[in-house]
Amino acid sequence: MTNHDIKDIKALLSSSKKIVIVTHKNPDGDAIGSSLALFHYLTKLNHLVTVVTPNDYPNFLKWVPGEDLILKFDLQNDQSSKAIMQADIIFTLDFNAFHRAGDMEQILNTSSALKIMIDHHQQPDGYAKYTYSDVSMSSTCEMIYNFIEMLDDCNLIDSNIATAIYLGIMTDTGSFRFNSTTSRTHQVIANLIDKGADNTFIHNQVYDTNSYNRLQLLGCALSNLKILPEFRAAYITLTQAELQNFDYKKGDTEGFVNYALSLENVVLAAIFIEDLQQGIIKISLRSKGDFSVNLMSRHHFNGGGHTNAAGGKSDLNISETVEKFISILPQYKAALHEV
Ligand code: 5GP
Ligand code: MN
Repeated sequence: MTNHDIKDIKALLSSSKKIVIVTHKNPDGDAIGSSLALFHYLTKLNHLVTVVTPNDYPNFLKWVPGEDLILKFDLQNDQSSKAIMQADIIFTLDFNAFHRAGDMEQILNTSSALKIMIDHHQQPDGYAKYTYSDVSMSSTCEMIYNFIEMLDDCNLIDSNIATAIYLGIMTDTGSFRFNSTTSRTHQVIANLIDKGADNTFIHNQVYDTNSYNRLQLLGCALSNLKILPEFRAAYITLTQAELQNFDYKKGDTEGFVNYALSLENVVLAAIFIEDLQQGIIKISLRSKGDFSVNLMSRHHFNGGGHTNAAGGKSDLNISETVEKFISILPQYKAALHEV
């Protein structure tokens, strides 16, 4: 994003606009945090702002200030479609290709609103008039902070905005440990605490609100964990029946794949989760060092993401998907041993 772009955007935002903020399907902490931070900021600038997510998100995100105002496209289709079709400006946050917005893909393609992308995933599409894309960023939330700073409005950051930004930086950095976490990230976090983000409260809301069933499901996932020492890889499977056994709720499997990656000498981890309703296996891939699971997912699992965290899907059944995963590992063997 150039100085010229910022000047244009500042001019654009100098009069009241109808603005819609959209994010990716199955929103995570960064998606919800960045959307609500921008929502509060633009509302303060006197715009009429609506946040639309493609679908629902986990309960551990249902406390963020302004969350109750979010429209879910699948559940509130008429209201969401109307807001999108009437929008002057659409911000697309934490994704960079319309298909990542699930069933909203078509309406985003149809809409003639001016689009602004703020995102940190690799290989952005060119749909936006203004694109702020930076794969080195820890999170879209950190970019929202930068965006507000570029617009010279840090004085407008209040506790609602600070809380939402803190949330997304925290979740996307694995609580400030992934190597996308820089000294600048910590400086931003320090400023957010000064502006009213309650760090202990936010961590508790996200990480200390487990149900008993979720912990039992984790136990099941861990007992399904398999290690492939030859490839320094490990994977977890969860069938729909296992999810049902523990009364699965959206978000319950969040972070499970990290247990596989936490194994000594393992540098590649995967989780395969059966979704019979969609007829797919949802895949999450994680890696250590510079082994790119983004490329692995793009080449073999119809997905993508970041170097160390990517997602994808498979139309095969769960055991065939695992077989496919194992069958592609030999071509990565050397790279996995270089990490
Ligand atoms: P997760 O494994 O937690 O679902 O996602 C890890 C990262 O990969 C996130 O940044 C997410 O946005 C991205 N991602 C997840 N699923 C997909 C997918 O199906 N396609 C693409 N392109 N990215 C994905
Ligand atoms: Mn993100």
